[in-house]
Amino acid sequence: MLDDSVQVRCRRCRGVFRDRARRLQNGYSRQCPTCEVVLFFDEDSPEQSIRRAMRSARQVRAALREAEMEQPRRKRVLRGERGYNRRGSYETASEEAD
Ligand SMILES: [Zn+2]
Repeated sequence: MLDDSVQVRCRRCRGVFRDRARRLQNGYSRQCPTCEVVLFFDEDSPEQSIRRAMRSARQVRAALREAEMEQPRRKRVLRGERGYNRRGSYETASEEAD
């Protein structure tokens, strides 16, 4: 299972917490669980720690998308079964099998 959370550092208390990469998008805001200051997430944020969190969130989201695309392994198996049958004629695995 992929870790879908990224680390965020609070600008006020310097505390570190984790939040879901899918939530960390432009316009998102949340309270620091330690000091309760509200942090605003934006890729153009003047705070370096926010920009860094946004960047890792984007990387995690991309990795999650890739992992989801690899899920339908059945298609790869079907492709592997394509080949000559016993009668000696070339058989193509049906794409409708999915
Ligand atoms: Zn804090």
